[in-house]
Amino acid sequence: MSTALTHLNPMRHYLNLTVRGGVLVRKIVIKDGRAVGVEAESGGTVFQVDADRVVLTSGAIRSPQLLMLSGIGPEDHLRQSGIRTVHHLPGVGQHLMNHLSAQMTFKVKDGISLATDRDAVHFALHYTAEGSSAVNDMVLRSSTVVDERQEHVAGVRTKYLSGDVPPELAARISCTLGLPDGSGYVRLASADPNIQPSFNYCYLQHPNDIRRVREGLRLAVRLLKSDAYKDVADYRIHPTDDVLANDDTLDPWIRQTIGTARHVSGTCKMGPDTDPMAVVDQYCRVKGVQGLWVADASVMPRIPRSGGAHATVIMIGERVVDWIAAG
Ligand SMILES: Cc1cc2nc3c(=O)[nH]c(=O)nc-3n(C[C@H](O)[C@H](O)[C@H](O)COP(=O)(O)OP(=O)(O)OC[C@H]3O[C@@H](n4cnc5c(N)ncnc54)[C@H](O)[C@@H]3O)c2cc1C
Repeated sequence: MSTALTHLNPMRHYLNLTVRGGVLVRKIVIKDGRAVGVEAESGGTVFQVDADRVVLTSGAIRSPQLLMLSGIGPEDHLRQSGIRTVHHLPGVGQHLMNHLSAQMTFKVKDGISLATDRDAVHFALHYTAEGSSAVNDMVLRSSTVVDERQEHVAGVRTKYLSGDVPPELAARISCTLGLPDGSGYVRLASADPNIQPSFNYCYLQHPNDIRRVREGLRLAVRLLKSDAYKDVADYRIHPTDDVLANDDTLDPWIRQTIGTARHVSGTCKMGPDTDPMAVVDQYCRVKGVQGLWVADASVMPRIPRSGGAHATVIMIGERVVDWIAAG
């Protein structure tokens, strides 16, 4: 579902709506603790747009960057970046989450095709890892190794682990960590808004995360030996028996081969005042600043466990619209 079609198109005729491309917001303008507009750049010209209310929707990498460029964030980091602190909010840019997947690959039996069209039914096993407090925190999913969808950013797609087998004759069971316990961070690389911020997912640094992925891969290996796969799978390609032999060989292999999703979230997380790392309240209002909201994936206190973040982001946007309209 494209929000351009479902949400924007029906409103395009509104006279109080202006959509402009090629405009970079540089920072939020804050006066006496209140957001009063944004500073933006278009075609080399920098200008200010005044507003009674500002709703930040730049995504989980750029929204914390814009808050920090505006002086809202961890005081130490702002000082190091040469930015005057307007409001100290230590959680801005922290708590970065994104799904990761490890994969077990296998040779598909000759004559069997796993290729499906994009509307075909997909199969996934949601399960609760041993000792997890949250249900269905893990996902195992069978798929072809080759992803026929267009690669939007060349080189970032998870590498095929098909060994000597041509990729089109290999398939995989991916193990996705749906609810990670660890998280990373976004930091300013520069006080210049044109320079991308730096970020680090800090994947698998939490012991409970590497444990669950390790166990998930071993479960995938067991599943491949089950009757359900006997007509489809020839043999396992990766990880090899040597790698599976013990945790000391499996853990580095997982770290070298995991792939990342594009479900970036959590960097301006919602939470109560008792949580010092919370950035927005339950209405997505930035704490300590009047007239400023964040309405994107960055407010998620936890990443949605089982798939993409898109539907949840739409829900967040719709809720914030209702709250703002209600005054
Ligand atoms: C290749 C790809 C495939 C995906 N597939 C799926 C999927 O199948 N299912 C699913 O559920 N999710 C999927 N996702 C994830 C989903 O797209 C995101 O979770 C969702 O779009 C996040 O919404 P958001 O509003 O937080 O941020 P975004 O959608 O990233 O919106 C942020 C917007 O702010 C703009 N922006 C940022 N900084 C500035 C600035 N300084 N000035 C002006 N504008 C700025 C950006 O250009 C962008 O338009 C995919 C993501 C990618 C990248």
